[in-house]
Amino acid sequence: MGQIIVMDELLSNKIAAGEVVERPASVVKELVENAIDADSTSIEITLEEAGLSKIQVTDNGKGMDADDALKSFSRHATSKITTEHDLFRIRSLGFRGEALASIASVSKISLWTSNGENIGSKVELEGGRVISNTPGPIRRGTDIVVSQLFYNTPARLKYLKTIQTELGHSIDLINRLAISYPGIAFKLTHNQQTIMQTSGRGDLKQVLAAIYGISNVKKMVAFDNDSSDFRISGFATLPEITRASKNYITVLVNGRWVKHYGINNAIVDSYHTLLPIGRYPIVVLNIEMDPILTDVNVHPAKHQIRLSKEKELMELVRITIRSIMHRVQKPPEIIEKP
Ligand code: ADP
Ligand code: MG
Repeated sequence: MGQIIVMDELLSNKIAAGEVVERPASVVKELVENAIDADSTSIEITLEEAGLSKIQVTDNGKGMDADDALKSFSRHATSKITTEHDLFRIRSLGFRGEALASIASVSKISLWTSNGENIGSKVELEGGRVISNTPGPIRRGTDIVVSQLFYNTPARLKYLKTIQTELGHSIDLINRLAISYPGIAFKLTHNQQTIMQTSGRGDLKQVLAAIYGISNVKKMVAFDNDSSDFRISGFATLPEITRASKNYITVLVNGRWVKHYGINNAIVDSYHTLLPIGRYPIVVLNIEMDPILTDVNVHPAKHQIRLSKEKELMELVRITIRSIMHRVQKPPEIIEKP
């Protein structure tokens, strides 16, 4: 007899979790992205001990009916794509349908959800197993509490960094999501302390002020340009405002925060010699393009992206930011008196 068996779902979820759920911030990312995909306008994230003891995400999105509430924890359960055609035109943040299954397999979860019409439902799981499923109140939205993350994977727990480092990852993530979605009100609380809060009024500059402080935002210049395939816009600090890391550069492709080494470099490059060595600007760069030119399906959790025509894009970024920095750096013109 052969030796190959098909593994049971709980085990395969736990293995997938090893890829997708690296640290508390990975859970925060998946839960908040789900809330965004559910058209929420208000998302509250509450952490305890940087998320190691508790991660709670409460949204006012479209919620789920009782059937979907249970199904959402099955592997490959997604409401976001149905055909292969969809895969190349992804507008939602999630689509793999494995985040909730993975998170559930390495934690204790309590989900309350309601679509605002039918009776709500409450599902509790431990290590991926459903331990209770009861009706809940009707109020449109979803509330997920993940506690004791990695309680059944001690090796993963051991490799986590300090509370401060883990919290830093979550703050960084929420900041970038708030920048990507100025129309959503975000609130992040850690050990009962409010860390950041945005109004959801749709004003990117207001969001940047909430994150980086008003005085820095006053030193940011707006830019806007296009080429045949791309349209770019955003804000960039004058060379006098710098940071010691590239972490303050946020790149969005069609509203989705991405990491792209080449684009980051093009931004820094466009300041040319204006920046001191080892210092970087604060920049938000919005890129709009036909989704067919991108491939987001590179890694299940990481924000990496592949682009066609990336040379054209980088050149556009360089020219645009360089020209505004050049313009604002020029000494004021002397107006001759008549
Ligand atoms: P994916 O986001 O890739 O579809 P997930 O495992 O993250 O997969 O979620 C599975 C499904 O559960 C989603 O497709 C969605 O239908 C539903 N879901 C998850 N979170 C929420 C939420 N906050 N509000 C409404 N529906 C949700
Ligand atoms: Mg998801």
